[in-house]
Amino acid sequence: DTSLSPRVKSLKPSKTMVITDLASTLVQSGVPVIRLAAGEPDFDTPRVVAEAGVNAIRDGFTRYSLNAGITELREAICHKLKEENGLTYAPDQILVSNGAKQSLLQAVLAVCSPGDEVIIPAPYWVSYTEQARLADATPVIIPTKISDNFLLDPKDLESRLTEKSRLLILCSPSNPTGSVYPKSLLEEIARIIAKHPRLMVLSDEIYEHIIYAPATHTSFASLPNMYERTLTVNGFSKAFAMTGWRLGYLAGPKHIVAACSKLQGQVSSGASSIAQKAGVAALGLGKAGGETVAEMVKAYRERRDFLVKNFREMEGVKISEPQGAFYLFIDFSAYYGAEAEGFGLISDSSSLALYFLDKFQVATVPGDAFGDDTCIRISYATSLDVLRAAVEKIRKALEPLR
Ligand code: PLP
Repeated sequence: DTSLSPRVKSLKPSKTMVITDLASTLVQSGVPVIRLAAGEPDFDTPRVVAEAGVNAIRDGFTRYSLNAGITELREAICHKLKEENGLTYAPDQILVSNGAKQSLLQAVLAVCSPGDEVIIPAPYWVSYTEQARLADATPVIIPTKISDNFLLDPKDLESRLTEKSRLLILCSPSNPTGSVYPKSLLEEIARIIAKHPRLMVLSDEIYEHIIYAPATHTSFASLPNMYERTLTVNGFSKAFAMTGWRLGYLAGPKHIVAACSKLQGQVSSGASSIAQKAGVAALGLGKAGGETVAEMVKAYRERRDFLVKNFREMEGVKISEPQGAFYLFIDFSAYYGAEAEGFGLISDSSSLALYFLDKFQVATVPGDAFGDDTCIRISYATSLDVLRAAVEKIRKALEPLR
């Protein structure tokens, strides 16, 4: 179709949404589906946070906000970054947006020139590659291994860097793998970044609070000499169960944040004023979200433990125990090549995910969407009962493939 711009034509639709939509269609036609595809907490937004939003509406706090975000929220974010991450930012170094997704896109658009390389370790979150393409930059994918817990090998990073390398996108805790970068590994990466003055790091820390001790979170910007080289993105969707409020933010060097702010001023203007008031209340819950978030993390941890135990017992299945987020990225590739009766050949992650959905009503996301075709991602942001049922179905689905 020549009526569409090449920029949009070359863009891939979000695959997580494709499967989620397909599952919704099944549900609408009356088929009960076990939904493990969406990256969304099953908890409600904490009550005090929701109340703050309701109050904002009642109080008539319903007008345009400052483009960069209301001062109260940006100050609260600065406080959070100082207390929790050891990072000193002024409010003019914070840009609040309609979700971390927007924060990430604006950062990529602000720093990348056409032809620049954006380094993305795989498995990666689906939007990184497409956002790089939107900036006319080239995604450079560096695969990682399940045996390395899907963590980037610094030697691989070093060998792929060129004078065109502009941005390294790191995501820890990771979607889709749940991996958490240990501080020592980040320090090694930082030493490489230091040798390449043009290279910046876009650190997606949206799952920061959903982390399982003894794993700990390190903000990349807090490492020696990395403050000026790092753009930190975080948000409210995951830890505070606020996906529908659409609230995220960027912190970084003033001139880059100003560039992102200029972009946002022409794209969407300030984030929802109502959501921002709720965001202030969320940050008021205490360090790392206080007891409220700790309760949710405890539930995620129980589910993780249940899944890890069960998938470890399954033949031909490989996993790396997630240290954070609420995903398990499972290597089922030993089953590729099998013929499923009444379905056909299981040749890759897409056909396996389709088989799970079609024949066993379990919705997952093929790893291919995240740049790793050996695996399938399941989200455990759902109850233990649902997960028990899912494990049974997957066990049954695999049996005839052996
Ligand atoms: N980054 C990662 C790794 C994510 O998984 C998501 C959501 O799925 C986002 C960013 C975007 O979050 P939001 O736009 O809801 O703040």
